[in-house]
Amino acid sequence: MKKLFDGIINFQENEFLKYKDHFTSLERKQEPHTLFIGCSDSRIDPALITKTLPGELFIVRNIANLVPPYRETAEYVATTSAIEYALTVLKVDNIVVCGHSNCGGCNALWNESLLKNSPHTKKWLELAHPVKKNIENHYNLKTIDLREREWITEQFNIVEQMRHLLTRYNNKTLKILGWYYIIETGDIFNYNSGNKTFELIRSSESK
Ligand SMILES: [Zn+2]
Repeated sequence: MKKLFDGIINFQENEFLKYKDHFTSLERKQEPHTLFIGCSDSRIDPALITKTLPGELFIVRNIANLVPPYRETAEYVATTSAIEYALTVLKVDNIVVCGHSNCGGCNALWNESLLKNSPHTKKWLELAHPVKKNIENHYNLKTIDLREREWITEQFNIVEQMRHLLTRYNNKTLKILGWYYIIETGDIFNYNSGNKTFELIRSSESK
């Protein structure tokens, strides 16, 4: 716990001072350009991997970066309300669905015994069941190794969640992006809906 408190003091004495004017400008307003939907995984840092500052990303994170299909409901729906707020109140320009390598949530789709004491997680991951079904329909699981199944699941999952967004928010001005982040290399692959592949984001392409 000491590490956390030491970190706060360190932040106040260093980073905060460096960005003091920026923080002052954010005192009473936020105008984020992007809604970032990412996994809760501790190894993902949306601001770090996009080199963005506070005020730029509106972030919602959950296990396996899932997007429940839009529905009318009386339940308390965190992800759905965060998406709704980002689009109707903050009016973001972009939505990024960011999945990642070695995703525990995606892996649990194939090993449900891991979740025998986590009934809510198991229920939550039902949102990715179409992904599993889709893979079973397209691949012979006996001929692909576990690593291959892992990345196929993570990538199919990103596309499935983009599809869920499109069922509700499909307009020309909003950009919906799908990213696949590789933890150990820092590479990010952007989904190309034209040829249905994930393409590495390179320096010449980001301009
Ligand atoms: Zn994950």
